[in-house]
Amino acid sequence: MRKITIIGAGQAGLQLGIGLLGHGYDVTVVSNRTGQQIRDGRVMSSQCMFGTSLGHERNLGLNFWDGDCPPVEGISFCVPDGTGGKAIDWASRLDAPARSVDQRVKMPVWLEEFERRGGKVELRDADVDDLEFYARESDLVIVAAGKGQIAGLFERDAERSTFDAPQRALALTYVTGMKPRDDYSAVAFNLLPGIGEYFTFPALTTTGPCDIMVFEGVPGGPLDSWRDIASPEQHLEHSLELVRSYLPWEAERCTDLQLTDPNGILAGRFPPTVRKPVGQLPSGATVLGLADVVLLNDPITGQGSNNAGKCAASYLSSILEHGERPFDRAFMQETFERYWDYAQYVATWTNALLGTPPEHVLKLLGAASNSPRIARRFANGFDDPRDFFHWFMDPAAAESYLAAVAA
Ligand SMILES: Cc1cc2nc3c(=O)[nH]c(=O)nc-3n(C[C@H](O)[C@H](O)[C@H](O)COP(=O)(O)OP(=O)(O)OC[C@H]3O[C@@H](n4cnc5c(N)ncnc54)[C@H](O)[C@@H]3O)c2cc1C
Repeated sequence: MRKITIIGAGQAGLQLGIGLLGHGYDVTVVSNRTGQQIRDGRVMSSQCMFGTSLGHERNLGLNFWDGDCPPVEGISFCVPDGTGGKAIDWASRLDAPARSVDQRVKMPVWLEEFERRGGKVELRDADVDDLEFYARESDLVIVAAGKGQIAGLFERDAERSTFDAPQRALALTYVTGMKPRDDYSAVAFNLLPGIGEYFTFPALTTTGPCDIMVFEGVPGGPLDSWRDIASPEQHLEHSLELVRSYLPWEAERCTDLQLTDPNGILAGRFPPTVRKPVGQLPSGATVLGLADVVLLNDPITGQGSNNAGKCAASYLSSILEHGERPFDRAFMQETFERYWDYAQYVATWTNALLGTPPEHVLKLLGAASNSPRIARRFANGFDDPRDFFHWFMDPAAAESYLAAVAA
């Protein structure tokens, strides 16, 4: 039986581990936290996942929260006009609902499920010596440690990385008491040109259904203002101040908010980074990077967990198709390239949205206010961002798309 060790019990590591168990592999997952510690810890993400990624979970029988987690039925998009009104305002339904299950809820259950299906869990904050050990006793070692320090083992790919510094100051606030949107639930996305973005959507957390407020602040700007916040109460108050200052229609939904729990807050920043997928240990042994370890995107487009699920599904196919052959460097590189064939489009689109929107993008987003067809295409692009490259990313393609829609 082929033996695979996965470092990191997150979206990607556990999904891949459980997938491999289903095909008879001997799988160990190394986690630096117990399920209880994850559940009792701080929120890590807003983790809104779209149809395709949810499908990968469903295929493995891991969709335990379909009944409890409020669906995200659409995407709305707003740009303020600077005088208290809206310059752009539209919404569209998603073809398949999205869902956000707090990783503090999901990962402890998946860890138990992994063990229940025959996987082994080792509790350890794995370092390079541990990787040497696992490389000796496994056919393949996969590092799925997210933003953990051990990801530093994988060299930054300067050619594929667009930025070398954080592009947004990030903050999350998990709340109850938010008034629902009038028509249907949605990722309510608000773009504040030059300042950043604010979006909010329903989710399931440790205390039940909630809403997540996500702030993306341009560094040095007014949404980059979380450093001096000293308590969860102050974090909530600051979230409300920002919404009241910039987005009155969102503030109307926030007249009676409470934090879900004192750990329902997060503030931080990181540089979006692509890394080379093969890590070499001092002994010369090689290990393969998975998901955030190899492609860390800014959360502005909410793609990280989606990518993690798709990366796990892609690696699973590569491993199964490889059969009994050795998991050598060539296999590792090829496995990543297969995922990159998809993920490069997600990274390019995400990085583009971090810059000043070009004229053709503003025109398309504006046109979506009067065209349900454009709005629907934009909203559903979140499930598979490759579609944006046919009509959104390039000025000439945008012009011909607009002309086709007008005709
Ligand atoms: C503010 C914010 C908002 C986000 N919003 C969204 C969103 O709306 N939609 C979306 O799709 N994505 C979102 N993401 C991104 C998403 O959360 C990540 O991309 C996703 O969780 C990555 O999955 P992963 O399995 O690669 O890593 P992780 O989920 O980070 O899991 C890695 C695991 O490895 C463990 N670990 C680390 N080092 C070690 C070690 N040395 N030994 C053992 N274990 C270790 C960690 O504790 C963790 O459990 C957001 C991220 C942030 C920061």
